Amino acid sequence: MSGIAYYQRGFGLKEAIGPALKADYHSRIVDRLKASDHRVEISGLTFLLAREFGFCYGVDRAVEYAYETRHRFPDRTIHLTGEIIHNPHVNARLREMGIRFLRESDGGGPGLEAVGPEDVVILPAFGVTVGEMEMLRARGCILVDTTCGSVLNVWKNVDRFSAAGFTALIHGKYSHEETRATASRTGQHPGGRYLVVRDRDETGLVCDTIRMQGDASLFLGRFAKACSPGFDPDVDLGRIGVANQTTMLSSESLEIQEMVRLALRDRYGEAELPQRFRAFDTICSATQDRQDAVLEMIGRGPDLVVVIGGYNSSNTTNLAAIASRSVPTYHIEDVGCLDGPGLIRHKLFGAASETSTRDWLPDGPVTIGLTAGASTPNNKIGEVVAAIATLRGAAFPV
Ligand code: SF4
Repeated sequence: MSGIAYYQRGFGLKEAIGPALKADYHSRIVDRLKASDHRVEISGLTFLLAREFGFCYGVDRAVEYAYETRHRFPDRTIHLTGEIIHNPHVNARLREMGIRFLRESDGGGPGLEAVGPEDVVILPAFGVTVGEMEMLRARGCILVDTTCGSVLNVWKNVDRFSAAGFTALIHGKYSHEETRATASRTGQHPGGRYLVVRDRDETGLVCDTIRMQGDASLFLGRFAKACSPGFDPDVDLGRIGVANQTTMLSSESLEIQEMVRLALRDRYGEAELPQRFRAFDTICSATQDRQDAVLEMIGRGPDLVVVIGGYNSSNTTNLAAIASRSVPTYHIEDVGCLDGPGLIRHKLFGAASETSTRDWLPDGPVTIGLTAGASTPNNKIGEVVAAIATLRGAAFPV
């Protein structure tokens, strides 16, 4: 990183930005729920809050660094390469602070070319691709890197796979910023290859191809956007190292590892597996803790679950997926989704768009489970709780 100013450890301004962070994201309602063993009853409603929820260590750090950066460079133009995390309110707040977005979630935005040598660029918790990093270095700007340590850990493993001649098979979403950054690591190694699989179905297709049962043209059609340029399934599926986007469903990631291991064993035999298969569980501990906490909360017997967080947040979506297996689950982006008495706008797991449900809150005593993704600030959770209490004509006690 010689020649450019590169900051990775913040600016030691926690005290200075503390009041602003508290004003923007703190919730007394969430504090009250935590202090009451994550359970509060009011007017026939029982709220159960998951024991792990909301901002994770990586998001806390990224948001803090962004606030510190604004404080440290009050007169400079500050950019973010894209959303710092997948929460619309946090991104909107950063815009209000004058931070510009080089790439919008709809693909628009001025791009990295808009960065001048005097500018400051914040890299998000997801990290950026190797190519983007090279472009930014070439612009000579100040870089503030908030890439989460757990993402760096995935990169380390993918680097190892690639250096040893293994194709990195990444369980993730190929268009997600983190997975794009992770996949780009493979290009640093001669012959390095990646393939991104979204779920079990896609992994099944990969396994069919490994077992030579599949149609190669079908494979390339399905994965055209999700593999390295020039990917040759006949060659590049011979040695595979499995990793994950940090926020995937951990149970599915483990299944995917096993599916690939069995397919390679069937094709090449048990004795060859050490030379052909590697796996490393790179789900981050914050994701795992939040997924485990949803199961624990469901064990406490809610009638329904409300999951709060951005619709484009992978870890929030997976919390909703886990809860929806057991109880009616409403994934909402924020309090605005409580659309008048009896109506809720929400996103069903796997659906492309929002749906509306009437009479979602039953009459009489009801127990509501609550959780929120790693990118959801506490005040957004508190607003939802207060609004649900209001539907029953009650004020949440704080
Ligand atoms: S979800 Fe995990 S990898 Fe992502 S920022 Fe949080 S701790 Fe880091």
